Amino acid sequence: MTTNKPKTNYLTDKKFPFCPGCGHGITINALNKALQELNYGPNDVVVVSDIGCSGLIDPLFATHTIHGLHGRSPALGLGVAMGLNQNKGKKVITFIGDGGATIGLQHILEAARRNVDMTLIVLNNLLYGMTGGQISGLSTQKYKEIIDFEQDIPPFDVIQLAYASGARMAVRVNAPNKIKETLKKAIETEGFTIVEAASLCPSYGMKRMNELVEVIEEENILEHERPATQIRDNQTQSLIDKSLVIQKKYDSDLKERKGILIAGSAGGGVQSAAKYLAMAGIFSGLEATMKGEYPITVGTGFSVAEVIFDQKKINYTGLDKPDYFIIVTQDGLDKVRKKLHPEAKIYIEEKLVTPELEQEFPALIKVPFSRLANRKSMALAAVTYVLNKEGILPIDALKEAVSTHRLKDIFVGVIDKVVGSLVEN
Ligand code: SF4
Repeated sequence: MTTNKPKTNYLTDKKFPFCPGCGHGITINALNKALQELNYGPNDVVVVSDIGCSGLIDPLFATHTIHGLHGRSPALGLGVAMGLNQNKGKKVITFIGDGGATIGLQHILEAARRNVDMTLIVLNNLLYGMTGGQISGLSTQKYKEIIDFEQDIPPFDVIQLAYASGARMAVRVNAPNKIKETLKKAIETEGFTIVEAASLCPSYGMKRMNELVEVIEEENILEHERPATQIRDNQTQSLIDKSLVIQKKYDSDLKERKGILIAGSAGGGVQSAAKYLAMAGIFSGLEATMKGEYPITVGTGFSVAEVIFDQKKINYTGLDKPDYFIIVTQDGLDKVRKKLHPEAKIYIEEKLVTPELEQEFPALIKVPFSRLANRKSMALAAVTYVLNKEGILPIDALKEAVSTHRLKDIFVGVIDKVVGSLVEN
């Protein structure tokens, strides 16, 4: 009897967020199939994206993912590819839309001229989909004629430009049934490869769909290949070799995956507290992830961080339903209010609790976090408090984690003070 080994799925189970008929899904499915045939491990692939409809892909991939500013995914991908330069068997795959490619053209040329080992996929739907269908620098002349756009400046040919800048392989592929093979070849090719894939946007081209299909399909495939390449050393230290190696020193009784969400204000040490909490998990032999979110104005507003612990590998770092909330300020509460759910344990600064909140979540746990530490250390104090109450990890593991910081004495002092106050009570 023959058994067919199930193919690795590089996609999460998230539903595609695109409008019905959007071409982006075709390329994403083609990439999944190409990776299956190439047999990379999901942890060997880094998918980088930026803003726009094409930027919605990052929760869809069960690989490493990085999401950045509009037009900057090639710059982010370039940095990661340089850092993985010495680590063969890893692959950086970067997505950008035609709008992003217009904004970040120089980043594409920079990655091409350095010829780093990265595949850039340009999803060209001929327009800025997320902001209302405006033309981009890659909108074709034919498309502009169709929408009666009165301007005859020719589009950038990103394929020709990238090739001229030093790309190993530069391909424009318009037929959906050729995308998988093209991507496979591009990913297999060492060096900078760029694939521009035509991707229809029915939401802004629907009325003219037939003409739009014509515009896309009449394009020829352009393919350039350099016979050989010299992958540049770029004299960068390996990202992996530079990684801090944390050896297990403590034990944890954790039985199943737990997700902790810490919510506070910018400047309140939320990201640091989450980082040390995650490190404490690793010191305790657990798998751990940490993810932060804060506004672009880093000195004001909310600061939220998510930490996941598990005994098993954590391939998807999203935290849809946290098991614990640690809420220390009003900014944090406002940010996560809609995520609160009755099955979670909600530890919250006592001053933030309103009768309405208490009525909705009668089991919430009010704690005087603001009396345990000053504004800058309150998140660490709150994390210490919850760890001590829940026993997920030993407090010594948290102390070990903060000891990697130059202000370790202050941080250890905060932890000791919280633990001491709990003993007194
Ligand atoms: S607006 Fe266009 S490109 Fe964006 S998801 Fe919808 S169909 Fe796709």
